[in-house]
Formats: sequence, structure tokens, C-alpha cells
Amino acid sequence: MKLSEHFDSSEFACKCGCGGMNNGAGVNHRLVQVVETMRQLCGCPLELSCAYRCPDHNTEVGGVWNSQHVYGEAADVQTPPGYTPLELFKIAEKAGADGIGIYEWGVHVDVRGYAARW
Ligand SMILES: [Zn+2]
Ligand SMILES: [Zn+2]
Repeated sequence: MKLSEHFDSSEFACKCGCGGMNNGAGVNHRLVQVVETMRQLCGCPLELSCAYRCPDHNTEVGGVWNSQHVYGEAADVQTPPGYTPLELFKIAEKAGADGIGIYEWGVHVDVRGYAARW
């Protein structure tokens, strides 16, 4: 199911294949907006290495118990070719993400309702 101009619900679905949170369609709408805005600012496709995670899968990948991923409020965005993680971090800020974490593979963005940076 199409959630925004460039993203399909399957891209937000739990990677364990459980089909939880309506197979990705039930994620927070503001999260979809943030990722879509990042996509438009980058001007190139963005790959989500993970978005919604069911509690079991979250435990499996070592996520913290209160991870925003479990609430369908977070996505991990891989740095696209031609960008650095820091550039992607700045794009995430412009796109209005609440929580932003920078990693060597890219950035974690979430819509937790207040600003957090790491
Ligand atoms: Zn799952
Ligand atoms: Zn994350």
C-alpha cells in the first residue's frame, strides 16, 4: 500500500515477516512524512534498513525495550551514494525528525514528540 509519493508500506514492515502493525501501513504518519521529505531533499532513493519492529524482532536485533521502532515511530535510513552520514543527519533535521541518531551506516530518525540527538 502506497503511504507517500515514494514509499510503500512494505518498506516500513517488520523484517521478521510477522506482518505486524498492518504490515507496515500502521506506522506513525508523521514518520512517513519525515522520511518522504528526506527523500525529496536528497533527490535520490532512500533505503530503510528497518522501520517497524515487533517486540520479538526488536529483542532479536538487540534493540532497547522501549525502542521507538516498536511503536512504529522510527526508521533507520541508509546513507545514499554521494552523501555522508553527517549530511544525511542535517537533512533529517530539515525534514523535521524529533529523534536523530547518526551511525556509520546512516541515521536513525523518529517522531518521539521531543527533540533528541545522538
Ligand atoms: Zn516482526
Ligand atoms: Zn533505529
